[in-house]
Order: sequence, then structure tokens, then C-alpha cells
Amino acid sequence: MLQQLVLIKYGEIILKGLNRPIFEEALVKNIKAALPDSFKGSIHRAQATIYVEPDDPEIIDEIIDRLTKVFGITSLTRAFVLPKDIEAMKKGAAEALAPVLSGIRRFKAEAKRADKKFPLTSPEIAREVGGYLHDCFSNLTVDVVNPEEVVMIEVREQNAYVYCGRVKGAGGMPLGSNSKATLLLSGGIDSPVAGYMTAKRGVRLNAVHFFSYPYTGERARDKVLSLAKILSAYNPRFDVHIVPFTEAQLAIKKNCPEEQLTIIMRRLMMRMAEQVARKTGARALVTGESIGQVASQTVEALAVTDAVAGMPVFRPVIGMDKEEIVTIARQIGTFETSILPYEDCCTIFTPKHPNTKPRLDKIELSERNLDIDKLVEDAVNGIEIVRL
Ligand code: ATP
Ligand code: MG
Repeated sequence: MLQQLVLIKYGEIILKGLNRPIFEEALVKNIKAALPDSFKGSIHRAQATIYVEPDDPEIIDEIIDRLTKVFGITSLTRAFVLPKDIEAMKKGAAEALAPVLSGIRRFKAEAKRADKKFPLTSPEIAREVGGYLHDCFSNLTVDVVNPEEVVMIEVREQNAYVYCGRVKGAGGMPLGSNSKATLLLSGGIDSPVAGYMTAKRGVRLNAVHFFSYPYTGERARDKVLSLAKILSAYNPRFDVHIVPFTEAQLAIKKNCPEEQLTIIMRRLMMRMAEQVARKTGARALVTGESIGQVASQTVEALAVTDAVAGMPVFRPVIGMDKEEIVTIARQIGTFETSILPYEDCCTIFTPKHPNTKPRLDKIELSERNLDIDKLVEDAVNGIEIVRL
């Protein structure tokens, strides 16, 4: 049996110049954290490739599956280790890839010689190995334009490797390489996608969820935690801060004009989320808002919401149509959970005719009827943290 491992390629990090080792180390750390608990074996990095080699090759599929959710990886593949000898490489490639090659017709072979001391050039290696495979498998024809599989041979310092069928990685930047942010996570479709898009750029997330018991019940809470669990595959050790929001909502409803309820509520959410962010070292807030989607997401409303935030508010889905957001939600696996029925704290307190063009001065005037500091303090003191 040939020795097997997972070869991991990463993309954008390579452009990082002098900071590159920092990004590479973050990536290796995240890869280690994503491996199954049962993993025993070695992990090392050389020439813009990371090698994950489990003692037990049976767990390679599971490793690949988990690593497709690790940001910073552009592609990954199961590879077979071969000695750096052309005859051994030919035979090894035929043995290793027989299950795949016996089931297809069109293939081509490519080679990359990272070790320039190896006597054959890349085209020569490809020709030798490709020719041998063609002779071994009578079903195969060479098709350089439209192959079903590309057999890749890489000759590196220590060994040669052969593989075919690369799996696409999650792309982006290693989680934690770009600071930390607090996601306002509702039970809807948009905010999990916004969180995913932010984490993809290397920003580690925690979350706040505003919970209006008894207006929203355990089911709504469970739903948000299920969404957070799905996101935690991309953002491990995901802390969800569940903020008791009922008092604040009742106070707004009692003391502020009906058409301003939503916008004032959103400003309170921002204030509370910012407190959580500051306490946890997060530098920005993230929401799932998209221009014009609902009354509180007009440009005027977003401006009034932002006026209260003391840190940047990221809205990665701001310019996306619902359909585009849904496509990503399906791809990351949150959609089916997001569309489960549930009560949302916002829908329960939604005014019939919300103000779509709120004015900051008027909103601030209405907010004087509230003891904002106390509402924020009480809510933050009542937070329950759930780690996913
Ligand atoms: P989503 O599909 O993400 O729920 P939405 O279109 O329903 O978004 P809103 O309900 O207006 O829009 O919420 C806008 C954003 O505010 C959400 O994307 C989310 O970031 C945040 N948000 C709304 N409700 C809550 C909540 N209960 N807890 C935490 N964040 C919330
Ligand atoms: Mg919502």
C-alpha cells in the first residue's frame, strides 16, 4: 500500500510578502484545530503547500471534508507518496489511481518539478507517466482539451506525489488573521450569510442574539443556536451572547412613537452589541442588512442606526438581492434552518407604518423618554453565553 496524505494549497496568503509567515502559521493552527480528535500523524508546510499525513489513511475523506470549511485553503486533495524515481513513479501512479482511471475515458497527465535537480523536466515526467498509464488502461485516451481527470505528478524535495481530482477549498483568509467582530445573529437568512462572508476574510466572530422572552420562545432560541452550530464549522469556538431584550422593547413601545419603534430598537441593539464587542475584544459589528429590503434598511434608516455605533458596522450583503443571499445560505448549509418558522423579536414589535426616512434629531428626541444607559446595562448584565 502506498503512503497517502492530504495536500493543501492556499491562495491569497502567498501575496502577503513579509507578513506571509503570520498568515501561514494561522492557517496551520486552524487546520490542526479542524482535524478529527482521533487524528494522529504529522502536519508540515513547505513550498506553499501544507501536508497533512494521518497514520490512518482511512480518515482522509473525513479530513478533506472538514478542511473544506477552513478559510484560507484554495484546494485540497488526497495524494499518494512516491519515491523520486521515474520507473517507481509510473508504477505507483498506475497502482494508486487505478480505481479512478479504470472508470473513465479521457485523461491527461501534468507534472510539476519543484526540485530542479530531478533529471527529467516537467513535460518529460508528464509524458513518461501519461504514456505508461495509457498503456496500462486500455479504456483511456489522452485528451488535453477536455479530460475527465487530470493526473498530476509533483516532484518535490523529499518525495514525489501523484493525485487526481482536486477539491475546492473555502478560499478567503485564515480565521483570526484579520481581528475579531461581533455578529448580530437573528434567526433569518441574511445574518448567517453576513457572518460567513466576514469570517471568510479572516475575521473571527462571536455573536449576539436578542431574545424577547416570552414573546419569542425556546424554539426561536434553539433555531439561532442551530444556525450558530452550522457557522461554527467555519468559525470554531463560536460564542453566542444571548441578550434579554424584552425590557428594552417594552420600554420603547411604551414611551416612543409607534412609527419609530423599529429604528429605536435597532439603535438599542447596536449599543448593546457594541458593549459585547468591547468586552470581548471585537473591533466591528456585522449585520445582515441589505439596502431597501425592509423599512429599517433604507439608506436614511441605516444612517440613523449607524450614528449610534462607536465602531465600524460591516454589512457584507448590503448590495445583494435576496436570491443571491439564498444561494450562499444554501451553499453553507444554513438555509434549511433559516426558513423554519419561528417568532422574531422584531416582527412582534413591528409598527404598521414604520418611518422609512427617519431623522436623527427626531429619533434622539424620542430616545430621551428612555433610560438608555440602564436598559443597556441591565440587558448586558443578563447575558447568557453559549459556546458552540
Ligand atoms: P435576517 O434574515 O438576517 O433576520 P432580516 O431581513 O430579517 O435579516 P431585520 O430583521 O431587519 O432583517 O434584521 C436586520 C439585521 O439585524 C439582521 O440581519 C441581524 O444582523 C440583526 N438582527 C435582527 N434581529 C436580531 C436579533 N433578534 N438578534 C440579533 N440580531 C438581530
Ligand atoms: Mg431578521
